[in-house]
Amino acid sequence: MEAIQAIKGMNDVLPAQAPWWRHVERTARSLLEDFGYLELRIPVVEYTDLFARSIGESTDIVEKEMYTFPDRKDRLLTLRPEATASMVRAFIQHNLQGDPLARKFYFLGPMFRHERPQKGRYRQFHQIDAEVFGEDSPRVDAEIMYMLRLFLERLGLSGVVLRINSLGCPQCRRLYRRDLQEFLEARLDRLCPDCARRRHTNPLRSFDCKAERCGEVMREAPLLLDSVCPPCAEHFQRVQGHLKELETPCEVDPCMVRGLDYYVRTTFEIVTDRLGAQDAVGGGGRYDGLMRDLGGPDLPGIGFAIGMERLILLLQQESALPETEADGVYVAVLGEKAADRGFLLAQQLRKSGIRTRMDYESRSLKSQMRRADKWGARYVLILGENELASGEIQWRDMARKTQEMVKLDTVTEVLRARGRR
Ligand code: AMP
Repeated sequence: MEAIQAIKGMNDVLPAQAPWWRHVERTARSLLEDFGYLELRIPVVEYTDLFARSIGESTDIVEKEMYTFPDRKDRLLTLRPEATASMVRAFIQHNLQGDPLARKFYFLGPMFRHERPQKGRYRQFHQIDAEVFGEDSPRVDAEIMYMLRLFLERLGLSGVVLRINSLGCPQCRRLYRRDLQEFLEARLDRLCPDCARRRHTNPLRSFDCKAERCGEVMREAPLLLDSVCPPCAEHFQRVQGHLKELETPCEVDPCMVRGLDYYVRTTFEIVTDRLGAQDAVGGGGRYDGLMRDLGGPDLPGIGFAIGMERLILLLQQESALPETEADGVYVAVLGEKAADRGFLLAQQLRKSGIRTRMDYESRSLKSQMRRADKWGARYVLILGENELASGEIQWRDMARKTQEMVKLDTVTEVLRARGRR
């Protein structure tokens, strides 16, 4: 029978890779919590409407990439393609605006998009997501980007660039949109079919188009940043001022539009040239009208998401995983009786919170020692017929290469006294 394979673009994380994930997750959680973010866990599936209404009907995500299916009552559901919409929904649904301490939230978890899989692009991928609700000060925008810089620094990642732009507010965008539509209209014959079709619904998206011919056209296009209204221009200036004070270098990229409709004012991306076709490691921005559009209070919002797979690919190119110290105890046994006693000892150690490993099948002492070494045990406790009779075990310190006898019924205390790690 043919063995069943995982779904294309949905990956297992094997034990050898898992420490990278834990390292990234731990670093992210600790930094986010240092900055006052609270964890908010959201469901994997939501009503399709939530994403269609927030991300935008004419975006790549909603048009082509969502995993959408009817449930048993024929309601359309979607596997979340990103977290912001759900975070906003949860904030509204649970009336969190009533709690002045609940302003910053984070979430780590898988997202789903039906894209063509390749290196750094998968159908199930993982994001670190952070959102701030109810604050429109440019200080918040700068603080988020500063936090991103610290995050990358703590991970030891260099060679990534922060790009920022302002997409203005709906008022400045409306005027600009008309200019851009006219510009595209005059060059229709040079645009790809997608851009030609989207010129009515979402002309800004042409800045993101990968088609070479569109790239050429867009190089001459009018820029939104040149026509933002004075309050938006001032907001953007202040963001840049704070970033400078926080010594967080950035490049202004007036062509960066991001792939989701809800962004206004500050948008940003962390980019790299080391991931082949995929250059974005993370990105985010303001979405001041989104909460109102989803039926909640009219509160501003800003957030970002970092892709963990891309982050880990970069980290693996650049740095070694922080060394983990030898840890835990391996119980080696010789003979059936000793195996029974060792089995009890192992459970007792685990109950006391000591990381313990033991094999169920009897093997030679040599092969057990090899396993203990490979596993990285700090101590090996050896139990045979003689030891059983004398009520003692042989205690081997793997790093020091020393051996001594220890009373069987004091093993837990001795381990405690010497420190588990
Ligand atoms: P977005 O929500 O599209 O701005 O994506 C934010 C980040 O998520 C990107 O910068 C990537 O690091 C990551 N990401 C988005 N789509 C994928 C994907 N299909 N596979 C892997 N990572 C992704």
